[in-house]
Amino acid sequence: MALVKIKNVSKTYLMGEVQTKALQNVSLSIEDASFVSFVGPSGSGKTTILNLIGCLDKPTTGDVFVAGEQVNILNRKQSAAFRGSVLGFIFQAFNLFSVLTTFENVEYPLVMIKNESISKRKEMVLKALESVGMLDQKNKFPDQLSGGQKQRVAVARALVTQPKLVLADEPTANLDKKSAVNVIRLMRNMRDKFNTTFIFSTHDPGIMEEAEVLYTLEDGRLVCPANK
Ligand code: ADP
Ligand code: MG
Repeated sequence: MALVKIKNVSKTYLMGEVQTKALQNVSLSIEDASFVSFVGPSGSGKTTILNLIGCLDKPTTGDVFVAGEQVNILNRKQSAAFRGSVLGFIFQAFNLFSVLTTFENVEYPLVMIKNESISKRKEMVLKALESVGMLDQKNKFPDQLSGGQKQRVAVARALVTQPKLVLADEPTANLDKKSAVNVIRLMRNMRDKFNTTFIFSTHDPGIMEEAEVLYTLEDGRLVCPANK
């Protein structure tokens, strides 16, 4: 069964009198344990489609299914609960708390979402940090880490709740070429290890080639592979 199914989805933004067709009749499905990327120039709809899959926004028309749930009909509270239990997020700007250590940043979703005991939390955080090779940096603050290291911490934070799907909108845009490729390969290793599906976006050709399937958007239309 497909983990993500998008059926005839369109998204139109209205700003005053101006209508922007951010997505136009997009249909696709993404299998479990995939490692895929949305690509296309700035403004092509990458963030919009990731936000719909991530249950952060709703389509204007069409349906979105994630892990068997029709997410476009969930209310705000249901969406938040769904995100917390099924999804992990990695951001372009890392979005770590500067006053929290590496350990505490990765622990945060377990405190906020999962409500785990202290000892269970510690075990889960250390395991996540070890899997991304950041165990020895656990007491450092974000300012003391390189960009590549920060994004490794963010990968650990996204994985610590053991989500089925991790969404990453341009996760390498603030990294140098070498760190960017390393972070993407780390994500792919995590997919291999935990069978977590990763969906990311990029407009960097060097990063695209790391994905197993590319979905190309142009002006909100899926041009490759064509709509199924
Ligand atoms: P990408 O991530 O590929 O750069 P986006 O999904 O952010 O593209 O944007 C697609 C189109 O939708 C763009 O034309 C953008 O200006 C427009 N858009 C995105 N978000 C909004 C919004 N909240 N309000 C109005 N227009 C938006
Ligand atoms: Mg974007």
